[in-house]
Amino acid sequence: MSASQLSPPTTTPKPLYHRFSDIFAAGFSVDWGIGSFLVISHVLVFLLTPVAYIYAPAGLWKVMLTWTLIHAFIGALSTTVYSHRLIAHGAAKDVRLPTHIAFLGLQLFAVQGSVRRWSAQHVIHHSVDKTGQHHLDPYSATWFSTSWRNFLWSHMLTYLFNHPYSREFDAALKAKAHPAIVWQDKHYVLLLIMANFALPIALGIALAGWLGGFCLLLASSAGFVLAQHNTWTVNSVTHMWGFKKGLMSSAQNNYLWLGPLGEGNHHADHHDYPRDFRNGFGWSGWVLDPTRYAILALRALGLVQGLNRASRWQEAQIIARRKVRDTKAKSGSVIWQQWEDKLAMLGEEWFAAAKAWDQFKLEKIKLTHQIRQAGADGMAAARGRMGVTQDELMRDLRARREGLRAEMQQARKRLKARRDEFFTAIWELKQANMAGA
Ligand SMILES: [Zn+2]
Ligand SMILES: [Zn+2]
Repeated sequence: MSASQLSPPTTTPKPLYHRFSDIFAAGFSVDWGIGSFLVISHVLVFLLTPVAYIYAPAGLWKVMLTWTLIHAFIGALSTTVYSHRLIAHGAAKDVRLPTHIAFLGLQLFAVQGSVRRWSAQHVIHHSVDKTGQHHLDPYSATWFSTSWRNFLWSHMLTYLFNHPYSREFDAALKAKAHPAIVWQDKHYVLLLIMANFALPIALGIALAGWLGGFCLLLASSAGFVLAQHNTWTVNSVTHMWGFKKGLMSSAQNNYLWLGPLGEGNHHADHHDYPRDFRNGFGWSGWVLDPTRYAILALRALGLVQGLNRASRWQEAQIIARRKVRDTKAKSGSVIWQQWEDKLAMLGEEWFAAAKAWDQFKLEKIKLTHQIRQAGADGMAAARGRMGVTQDELMRDLRARREGLRAEMQQARKRLKARRDEFFTAIWELKQANMAGA
């Protein structure tokens, strides 16, 4: 691989519109149904919530506050875990039916459209990175020539409009064809009304009559308004502010914003490898990604299986390309020519070490599986056929595991050394640039 292959072209999308009204000429129209629902629910929540707390029957304020917070949390978590990572991106190879049913129910509290529509929109949002069809991004933060318009559009305004028909969106919608997801989409409005309005009103009436019903209705509405803005900050805040590290998209790493349960962080890693159940590579992905913990908990409970993650080789490719691209942009052409081949060679060595590590990891998984199988009763017949006792078989497998462990330690050291060499070269190139400047 040459250094030019290491260094993909950077695409900075040009703004498509100047004013909001420009979008009508491109085929947008006001969505009066969703538009008025969003506007009215926001106005009522802001105006009537203080009234509800003031006039709430004694003690009910605690129920109201608890409902709002739990509602917002459920709405946010079901969106990040299920609509986003598991369904839009297919972060697990096997999502069990009870998981679908539970999350399709919980996701109603997010009030962000059915899981089917939500995930299809998000697939298009990501596909723009590859296709460059910037105009299709449903919540682009780069369509307008001014930041405040980009913020308002990507955060909320996009939902107030019917977007022009696109074959791409239609295909993305049809691709989300799990029967439970299709069923939720079909009955979405009725289910949404039951979860967000009928249920809290009924509970409120049971607790404290009609006034109680009114109070819990507002508590529920405040819950979904919070959940909505929490998700929307991913489209606005983390696409507009933070450290730009992405290879292709306009997404940024916003380390400070933990509201969307991990989606605000490493947004660039996520855009570069969206199928990953994690939102970022490396250790900081662990520290700042509560959605990842939730998915790991689901796996521990057997509710999802076969989590997808970038291999070390894929991670190395993404990180190296980013580094090369950024360094090249800051280097003088003469200095760059001197370093281009060296960086390409060091990159190759790093990728090879990463591939070797990935191979060992696969072997380890296979061996662990064999050891588990060998302990199971079903293997008795196979052992008999091979003419070895269970003790002999286990001893042999464990010895192989020990050997593999030692080899993996070496492979890890080699991988770290190759990575360090690549980064040292990047650092030296930076020094050469500074000396030359
Ligand atoms: Zn994004
Ligand atoms: Zn995504």
